[in-house]
Formats: sequence, structure tokens, C-alpha cells
Amino acid sequence: MSLFESFQTFPALFVTAVTAMSLAIGSFLNVVIHRLPKMMERQWRDELLELNGQEIPASPRCNLMVPRSACPACNHPIRALENIPVLSYLVLRGKCSACNAGISLRYPFVEALTAALSGYIAWRYGFSWHTLATLVFVWAMIALAFIDLDTFYLPDNITLPLLWAGLFVNMGGVFVDLESAVIGAIAGYLALWLVFWGYKLVTGKDGMGYGDFKLLAAIGAWLGWKMLPVVILLSSFVGAIVGISLIVFARHGRNVPIPFGPYLVMGGLIALFWGDQLLQYYLQTL
Ligand SMILES: [Zn+2]
Repeated sequence: MSLFESFQTFPALFVTAVTAMSLAIGSFLNVVIHRLPKMMERQWRDELLELNGQEIPASPRCNLMVPRSACPACNHPIRALENIPVLSYLVLRGKCSACNAGISLRYPFVEALTAALSGYIAWRYGFSWHTLATLVFVWAMIALAFIDLDTFYLPDNITLPLLWAGLFVNMGGVFVDLESAVIGAIAGYLALWLVFWGYKLVTGKDGMGYGDFKLLAAIGAWLGWKMLPVVILLSSFVGAIVGISLIVFARHGRNVPIPFGPYLVMGGLIALFWGDQLLQYYLQTL
């Protein structure tokens, strides 16, 4: 029996394999979340220097592969054994083996979250193209949420390929028909673009960034235009609850900005998994 046949015959085997592999993907997402904003910052700096005719200072190469991960406190290179997702964090008890500096709980959290969501997808959709496409969508969404949380920025390097990938996947009708996907991408962008300019005209302030428009366009391309109201309602709902709790419990200033991307991601993921049921329930109660 080939590996593919075994996956089809024993769904539990497939779910286990996807979950285990996704721990490694989560580990890679940590690198993307941490490094991509730094790589882009450096690229912008170099472009600006070049525009001004200044010399670009030589700096060590930095991309998603090089240099190897090291402890930010003491630069101790992280060995393969210390780089096993989740497990190494537990064995090291959250501390660097060389200098005992604390390792952020964020790393094992992203790994565990990626594995849990991926395992759920594999269980729910089985050994199929639908599973593969959904995994790619969810992995990109996880990276976007954490990058926005850290930097208030949603990189085009992820949002735009995600949008094109959504249209491509739906050429085969994996989630919705191509027409719904194209209208979803356009309407997703325009909806937040209108909110942005409306808010700006009334208050003179920027309520969100262009990255948010592109993210909602990407979500529309994957899930179709019918899901957009669901996504916007869910993200605003989660955002309002978290925002109010932050102001009440953590004395977060009213005017301190909160990135909207993570809420769009949460709204998008809830719509991905339960949007059809929510829509049906909503239409029935109407
Ligand atoms: Zn260290």
C-alpha cells in the first residue's frame, strides 16, 4: 500500500502526519514573523539611501535561511536539538541553555497553534486538495496576524500572493466559484477603503492601514464575497470585546492604536470553518 493510499484508508494516520509536520511549519512561521519585517525594513533603508545617492553600508546577509537562529540575549547559536518545536521549550524550561535568558512563550505558542489548526483541517477535510489549500491559507493568516501585532504592518509580500493564490485555487472552485472569488477580492478591498476614507473625512485620523484592505481582499478571494459581511461583523465583534477589555482591565489608553489585522484574521478563520452555518442561521432567523 502506498503512502497516499494509507492516508486515504486511515484518516487518523493522515491527521497525525499533518499535525507533526505542521509543528515544523509553525517553527518556520516564527522565523517569518520575526525576520520578514526586519528584511523589509533594511530593503527600504537601502532604497532610500540609493535614492539620495548615498552609499549603502555593508551588513551581514539576512534572509529566511541565513543566519542561523541564535539567542537574542547572548547570541548562542540554537542547535538542532534545541530547535524541536514545543518540546525543546519544555525541556529547556523556557530558558536559553547558555545564558538562562527567558525564551518568549510566543514561539511554542505559534508552533502549537499551527499544529492544532492544521490537525483540525486534516481531520475535517481529509486527504484532499481542499485540505492542502486550506492549510496554505491558514499558515499565511497566522504569519500575518503576528506580524501585524508586532509591527502594525501587513506585508505586501504575504497579502498579495495570498490574494492571487485565492483566485487561482477558486479557478478550480475549491471554496467558491471564480466569479464569487473575483467579486470577493474587489469588494473586500473597497469595503475597508470606503471605511478608511469615511473615517478620515469625519475625524481627520487614519483608522486602519492599506494592509487591512489587501488582507480583506485576500480573504474575499478565498472565501467569496458572501462571506465578507460575516468576516467584518466577526472581526469588529472580537475587536470590540478585546479593545474594551484592554481599556478596562489593562488601562490601555483609548488613543493607543490596536492593529486590526489580527481581528480580520480571526474573523476570516471563523468564517472559513463555520461561516456557512452562521450565514444559514442568520438567514433563517431573518
Ligand atoms: Zn542565551
